[in-house]
Amino acid sequence: MNLDFQDRVAVVTGAAKGIGRAIAEALTESGAAVALWDRDADEVHLVTEALPDALGCAVDVTDGSQVGAATAATLDRYGQIDILINNAGIVRDAQLVKVVDGEVVDLMSEEDFDAVIAVNVKGVFLCTQSVVPHMVERGYGRIVSASSVVGLYGNFGQTNYVAAKTGVIGMTKVWARELGKHGITANAIAPGFIETEMALAVPEKVLAHMVERTPVRRLGRPEEVAAAYLFLASEQAGFVNGAVLSVDGGLVSGT
Ligand code: NAD
Repeated sequence: MNLDFQDRVAVVTGAAKGIGRAIAEALTESGAAVALWDRDADEVHLVTEALPDALGCAVDVTDGSQVGAATAATLDRYGQIDILINNAGIVRDAQLVKVVDGEVVDLMSEEDFDAVIAVNVKGVFLCTQSVVPHMVERGYGRIVSASSVVGLYGNFGQTNYVAAKTGVIGMTKVWARELGKHGITANAIAPGFIETEMALAVPEKVLAHMVERTPVRRLGRPEEVAAAYLFLASEQAGFVNGAVLSVDGGLVSGT
């Protein structure tokens, strides 16, 4: 099967680095026109040097007016948006309540809770709400959003992130029901531990433990996650709707 994205226009959020960059590169190689939305203007600029036909937009997905401006700039440049990849995400890990020798020594801060929800949930909501009216008009759309294996089974030290990634699954299932009749599908990807800056910030001991629990015994590569995004973003995946695809080397089944 050949996934052909000729004449398709894709928005990829968080496209400056890691998995988002790999998705943008794979979509470009497969013929799509790609708009790279990322809050890191310098990094976006570097990616557009490597992908000269792509449109780089410096946008913070937590800010509705910036998202609106990026949607307008993308439509202005390409005239359509067929695919939205909601990939931008952050972590701010801490235990809900950290207890040492029976004493509470730390808490997850309200600020860290809000920051993770703002990017990973509200950002997905704002970007989707911004592009969907246009997709409805055209009667076609593919929305693929970043959840995580931890959104399926929880994780120590990640109250905020797990709430967010579970929230992405919930929103995806709502949009699958609301938008299917307009030719728009909504699906989510649940990556395991993937070799990017985000995962490599995790202490080595924890990563080694994750690798041990992963049946294929290694971290995933951004290109492997990108391949799953491309399938769900393709025309051929039109009957896959409201699904959560794990790309985790079997981690969840091995839990
Ligand atoms: P990364 O940190 O390497 O890249 C994230 C990108 O998102 C960066 O370019 C960053 O600038 C951008 N970004 C952050 N906040 C933003 C905002 N407010 N507005 C616009 N852009 C913003 O991350 P990654 O590892 O490539 O992860 C990509 C997605 O996959 C995230 O949603 C993450 O939660 C999810 N995920 C990653 C892993 C993993 O192991 N790496 C596992 C499961 C899920």
